[in-house]
Amino acid sequence: MNVILFGVQGSGKGTQAKILSEKTGLKHVTTGDLFRENIENKTELGKKVLEFIEKGDLVPDKYVLEIVQDALDNLSTGFILDGFPRNPSQGEFLLKKYNIDKVVLLELTDDVSVKRLMARRLCKDCKTDYNMLYKLPKKEGICDLCGGEVIQRKDDNETAIKLRLDKFHNETEQVIKVFADKGIVCRVNADQEIGAIQKEILENLGV
Ligand code: AMP
Repeated sequence: MNVILFGVQGSGKGTQAKILSEKTGLKHVTTGDLFRENIENKTELGKKVLEFIEKGDLVPDKYVLEIVQDALDNLSTGFILDGFPRNPSQGEFLLKKYNIDKVVLLELTDDVSVKRLMARRLCKDCKTDYNMLYKLPKKEGICDLCGGEVIQRKDDNETAIKLRLDKFHNETEQVIKVFADKGIVCRVNADQEIGAIQKEILENLGV
């Protein structure tokens, strides 16, 4: 089975995709993490995409499509896409090359999205998520799991968040409509506990 998770930033796509991947064995493919790994490792690609990511702008398709194709080709399992496709041309590329069985849209208002993202933190080393509103590390600034430094993403600032929301409403929603017209989109309220959201996703996917 091949699945896409859509939702505004902060709707919990990454968290839900990770749990879903552990439960189903489907491969979690997230373009944002792939780009951040490249930035950390100072690769050529990382240097090219850095400025777009820090502003909250979309990375040009030529870099995105390459990274997605690398991640999806030669997979021996199905996949869960998180962060891709984000505009109509990425949607077309995906539909030409791969079969998509189900699409989950995690629904959240922009106000809640902004509040969650401003409070979002992550461990610099093991990438564990924290949130200053509801999931604080036990020791301020230190990861509970690995002792790494807990930091804020550079693009989790108000200007970049607004631009990302704008891109979601103006570009990503057009792609979601294409899948909705195929009748394969299920909508889940993302303003609930993590476990309740996961339960609804599993029910909708029939797994
Ligand atoms: P995310 O972790 O999904 O919020 O992605 C972080 C940033 O990576 C985005 O704000 C974009 O700059 C870039 N990015 C991730 N996925 C894509 C994509 N499919 N198309 C264009 N840019 C992307």
